[in-house]
This record gives sequence, structure tokens and C-alpha cells, in this order.
Amino acid sequence: MAKKKVATRLEREHLSKVASLGCLVCQRPANVHHIRPIGLGMGMRSNHYQTIPLCREHHQGQFSIHNCKKEFEAMYGTEHEMLQKTLKEIENLEEANNFFNYNKGENNG
Ligand SMILES: [Zn+2]
Ligand SMILES: [Zn+2]
Repeated sequence: MAKKKVATRLEREHLSKVASLGCLVCQRPANVHHIRPIGLGMGMRSNHYQTIPLCREHHQGQFSIHNCKKEFEAMYGTEHEMLQKTLKEIENLEEANNFFNYNKGENNG
């Protein structure tokens, strides 16, 4: 097994945002599931951004992405589709935050 890389602060922030979205399937409180990176190989910079929120049941339960991946993906979409959805939701969250912080001044970041 490869050594586990410690998440940076930004990565941790991202992970907590992902978890805060709730399970993609049932909206219950979620943990993050790291998806298998697409075509980037094992050495890619960080896959903490390739995570999706899933509750315990849908993550590692009887009918879960870990235990019945094929059936799970057929039912709810592939990991990568779920990732797109997750990132979109986070983008929306951030847009809302930016809107509230707008009067703090120009931000080119
Ligand atoms: Zn769930
Ligand atoms: Zn997982």
C-alpha cells in the first residue's frame, strides 16, 4: 500500500464541503468516498478533489458503491457522473458565499 498523503488545509476544506452536501443518493449525513481517478494514473497530484459524499449505507453498506459497484452505478450513475454533480453543487455553494462576501472588495483569486 502506498503511504497515505496528508491532506492540506485547502484539501481538508474541500473534503468537509463535500461531506456537508450529504449523501448523493439519500441526503443523509455523509462521509467522503474517493473515486478512482480517470486516466491520470496513481501519481496524480491529489485526489482529495475527486471525492463524492455518500452515507454509510450507500458507501459501504449492503447495496453500496464498495460492495455492488456495478449495480450501484447502473442505478445512480457512475462515480464520475457523481463527481461532476458534487463539484457543481460545491460551485453553487461557493457562488452563494461569494455573493455574500462581495462587498469585501475585489477578489481576483
Ligand atoms: Zn445514502
Ligand atoms: Zn469509499
